[in-house]
Amino acid sequence: MTDPETLSVTIVDGYVDEPAHFGVPPYISTYPRYTAGALVDAGVPREGITYHTIDGLRDEPDRWRDVDEADLLCYLGGMTVPGKYVGGTPAEPDEVRKLAWTASGTSLMGGPVKFGVGDENAGATETERQDLDFDFVAKGDVEAAVYDLVESGLEGFSNRMRDVDEVSRWAQEGAFIVEQHPNHPDHLIAELETSRGCAYRCSFCTEPLYGNPTFRPPPSVVGEVDALSDLGVRHFRIGRQADILAYGGDGEAPNPDALRSLYGGIREVAPDLETLHLDNMNPITIVEWPEKSREGIRIIAEHNTPGDTAAFGLESADPLVQEENNLNVTAEECFEAVKIVNEEAGWRPGGPDDPNGPEEGVPTRLPKLLPGINLLHGLKGEREETYERNLEFLHRVYDEGYMLRRVNIRQVMSFDGTDMSETGAEIANEHKKLFKRYKTQVREEIDNPMLARVAPLGTVLPNVHLEYHQDGKTFGRQLGTYPLLVGIPGERPLGETIDVAVVDHGYRSVTGVPYPLDLNDASMDELTTIPGIGSSTAGNIVVNRPYDSVADAEFGSEVDLEGFATIRPLERAD
Ligand code: SF4
Repeated sequence: MTDPETLSVTIVDGYVDEPAHFGVPPYISTYPRYTAGALVDAGVPREGITYHTIDGLRDEPDRWRDVDEADLLCYLGGMTVPGKYVGGTPAEPDEVRKLAWTASGTSLMGGPVKFGVGDENAGATETERQDLDFDFVAKGDVEAAVYDLVESGLEGFSNRMRDVDEVSRWAQEGAFIVEQHPNHPDHLIAELETSRGCAYRCSFCTEPLYGNPTFRPPPSVVGEVDALSDLGVRHFRIGRQADILAYGGDGEAPNPDALRSLYGGIREVAPDLETLHLDNMNPITIVEWPEKSREGIRIIAEHNTPGDTAAFGLESADPLVQEENNLNVTAEECFEAVKIVNEEAGWRPGGPDDPNGPEEGVPTRLPKLLPGINLLHGLKGEREETYERNLEFLHRVYDEGYMLRRVNIRQVMSFDGTDMSETGAEIANEHKKLFKRYKTQVREEIDNPMLARVAPLGTVLPNVHLEYHQDGKTFGRQLGTYPLLVGIPGERPLGETIDVAVVDHGYRSVTGVPYPLDLNDASMDELTTIPGIGSSTAGNIVVNRPYDSVADAEFGSEVDLEGFATIRPLERAD
């Protein structure tokens, strides 16, 4: 019998990315936190639990010793949606195998990796289930497997799911693991789970494999936020659910009271939080229960932070594709849902539509909550017309004056257990050329003008985290759900956080200058990035320094510099 008190456990986070669950840095998914909590609940002391990310292992090879020497290695990973990431690189199958070979103790693998593994982490691929040489693969919940495995003296476990009491306990008890994440405390977002499962059965989706929705009651989620907040976490994303509007209801209809307890409770235990965003919202819920949904959306917009996105899984505007894949929302219904979210939550804090009243002198901020549209390609029944219908839908939204925060276009990954497993990646591969052309069209005709509407000139994005340099510019993003990529002239120190004012728009990114821009210190590059300031005006601004006021530096430019700029007094030498 192995005594839990003496066990050493290493958790390796290879990152997860599921349709409703982010775990690539700056996100930390629920898996390592719940797993750590289950270990503590089973009697393993906190000091016996070591947590590494796969990037942490790559950066410091010495850490592999913790993999080798642990009595129990828990590997967590699995990508069920394709993606490209800046904040971290998910573990590749060969690295996962190496973990199993290195571990001298018992090895267990869990997380969405149980759904299948492709040759690489990419779209338009087929996947298969593999054990990648681990002793055990958790086919149910990995946190339940870990708990039972420790209880059994590392002999084995049954593949079960955990219950609500367990998750409530484990989520709080495992929060301590965040302190071992390389991004802790400032540049880390904790992904929060409010429910699992879905009432619908779209052909490509792994979520129905969790069954009908089950919800974590508000005190369970709020208690977890309280624990995380005590450990210095300031950024949260309520991302792990199929439909936030259905939270705490009968599985389909909204329950605004539950949303109020959830959001109100979070704000109470984490009054200093800096980000509170969400992910998925099902447009069909809005169309079928418009009044309750409007109320729910208002509650969210009252408590969240600006720039929040409600991702809508339209997936296809083509009725044939909808029919063949059991999709639950039509283009017309989705349009109606876009309209309702815009009406209830598309206001900017302190702006003219702010329900609390406009405020003087407040810079333009991003809208509180806007819809995002997910479109998926390679589904059964897809034809050339599908691409036209999707474009038509997006044009209609733009032409009628509504805002979308983001259009997300992907190609299908097929998983065993879903209806798409028979078709696989065949259609996606056949339509590759069509897909490429259409993607460019969406970027040019929709994304670019939409971004100019969502983040007009002068919009201020606070706390942009500077991530990398490219072509003489610095790129960064805010923490949050689908943050905008911001390019800033010049190479600024990485890892810092600055406020930025938007001056130009790309397809999916914006150009910005530090806000407010000190005219006594701004570079030529920064000045000429502001539309309306050419190199001769910028030159005039530079040579006539210093200024006592912004008005002194206006030199007849057409731009209202007051919106961007400031004057900081020059430091005295004495
Ligand atoms: S509505 Fe469809 S795509 Fe969304 S979670 Fe449910 S089954 Fe998946």
